[in-house]
Amino acid sequence: VYLFGHIGITAAAVDAAQPEADLKLPMFLAILPDLIDKPAAVLLPALVHDNSRGFAHTLAAAAVLLAFLAAALPNLRKALLLWACYAGHLVLDRMWLAEGPQILLWPLLGPFPSWFERPRTPHLLAYNITGELVGAAFLLHLARKRARNM
Ligand SMILES: [Zn+2]
Repeated sequence: VYLFGHIGITAAAVDAAQPEADLKLPMFLAILPDLIDKPAAVLLPALVHDNSRGFAHTLAAAAVLLAFLAAALPNLRKALLLWACYAGHLVLDRMWLAEGPQILLWPLLGPFPSWFERPRTPHLLAYNITGELVGAAFLLHLARKRARNM
């Protein structure tokens, strides 16, 4: 799931770029691909071949979001920062490994790969545990720092 990894690492990156930034929307965007694709895999398994990484984990979705943010926000810098929170999810998911490129570049390399036939991502458990610990440590640090500044 990598929940603390996504939220903590993204929040720390935004805080480093803009110390005063509100972190709620960045943290939401950091997990938005999973908030869309994990329910989709349960509700519409045939559409995404049971894969918990589908439409929201594609470059096409990232491009649509970038266009939307650039049009909706007057400040392009802010739009890019928020978009980076979403795009960062795909980086932290290491979409270049295993079946990732077929999802990322959908539909160019064919349909979404079947969850049951997908190749295994190397060192997944070690990566997940490390990411969750680092993310949780960042969140604790941020919570303390922001409480001090209030
Ligand atoms: Zn994901």
